[in-house]
Amino acid sequence: MAKKVLKFGGTSVGSIKRILHAAKIIKKEHDNGNKLIVVVSAMAGTTNNLIEHSKGISKKFNKRELDVLLTSGEQVTSALIAGALNDLGVKSKSWLNWQIPIITEGEHSNARIIHMNIKNINDYISSGGIAVVPGFQGVSKSGDITSIGRGGSDATAVAIAKIFQTDSCEIYTDVDGVYSSDPNKIPLAKKIDKISYEEMLELSSLGAKVMQSSAVQSAMMGDIPIQVKSTFTEREGTEIINQDNIDYTKAVTGVAYSKDDAKITLLGVEDKPGVAADVFEPLSRNQINVDMVIQNISTDGKKTDITFTTKRQDSKNAISLIETNKKIKYEKMYMNDKVSKISIVGAGMVATPGITFKMFRSLADANINLLAISTSEIKISVIIDEKFTIDAVKKLHKTFKLD
Ligand code: ADP
Ligand code: ASP
Ligand code: MG
Repeated sequence: MAKKVLKFGGTSVGSIKRILHAAKIIKKEHDNGNKLIVVVSAMAGTTNNLIEHSKGISKKFNKRELDVLLTSGEQVTSALIAGALNDLGVKSKSWLNWQIPIITEGEHSNARIIHMNIKNINDYISSGGIAVVPGFQGVSKSGDITSIGRGGSDATAVAIAKIFQTDSCEIYTDVDGVYSSDPNKIPLAKKIDKISYEEMLELSSLGAKVMQSSAVQSAMMGDIPIQVKSTFTEREGTEIINQDNIDYTKAVTGVAYSKDDAKITLLGVEDKPGVAADVFEPLSRNQINVDMVIQNISTDGKKTDITFTTKRQDSKNAISLIETNKKIKYEKMYMNDKVSKISIVGAGMVATPGITFKMFRSLADANINLLAISTSEIKISVIIDEKFTIDAVKKLHKTFKLD
């Protein structure tokens, strides 16, 4: 008998038929003698629809009310799952976050779970009931409803696994595991049996939305193994675990991509100490994160060019901050937001020389120009023209034998 967290994502609870199907999976686990805490997302599309509703009222919709609104989707599915289990003859009950409570701190829309009361739920599951908890929701110390970031039901599941000290944390979703790339876009992508927290964290922060990155981060910090598996097939899923338990036979584990970056170039910037600081300081003061930076060596020692990338949604703001910044002089500025970021990730890279060169050569052979580059110990990212995204991901799959 084990104590388990089972989390069902939006597609897995996306219709009444699917809710009934998820309830059967849960019942089977219960019939096997396990103590269960079930975490649910809102039905697929619901949270986006709610955001659209708020925008229909105002682009600056009150943040407190936005969290009340957005977390309502998870209330619906919690009740439907608990109701479906009751209908199958299983004892089950839903708890909203303020009833538990799951306490969060931090700003609305992006709060963090810091505490949970475990007694009532532990008593309930010990008495044979299945507890159903909405993902994504929390409550602040002052009693306001909060939400913990998009895709946050994953983080709720991990937090519950950690605080309730469950034996497993199982993420049921619409694919049967973590693949070397999004299997819905890159059919030749291959399923990964075991992946380290570090690699998964890189992949999810670089665009693989199969796991929310902050959920992976807290799993890594608490060493909570995660299983990602399908609601719709019985195939083996992927284990996200500590790196020490993995044998690396390949240098590269996966290829991620995202289309949410923009590249800004300043031409003819004065080449003197402090210029880069003058450019980037106002951006950081305005919470604009700069990802990659390239500064050319000036040929005459007087002028240089600086290129950097930011999130696409921040690019207009970044440009206006530079335009109004009296401290910096430049000849021309231009922005390109039709770019994408392609990253190869692999803990095996550390021990394998030549990966950088192999990646660049492979993209060059496909006539794909690199607009910016950044590297870390277990990843290499490049910015390329958006129209080559899928070609580049496929090419890198071949080069690193991931297909
Ligand atoms: P859920 O609603 O269950 O949380 P998500 O839509 O958040 O599911 O995440 C699952 C989706 O992630 C898949 O349908 C797939 O398209 C996408 N995805 C992106 N990258 C990957 C990857 N490397 N492996 C698996 N799925 C991926
Ligand atoms: N419903 C929330 C979202 O769409 C949380 C989640 O699905 O994990 O972001
Ligand atoms: Mg998700």
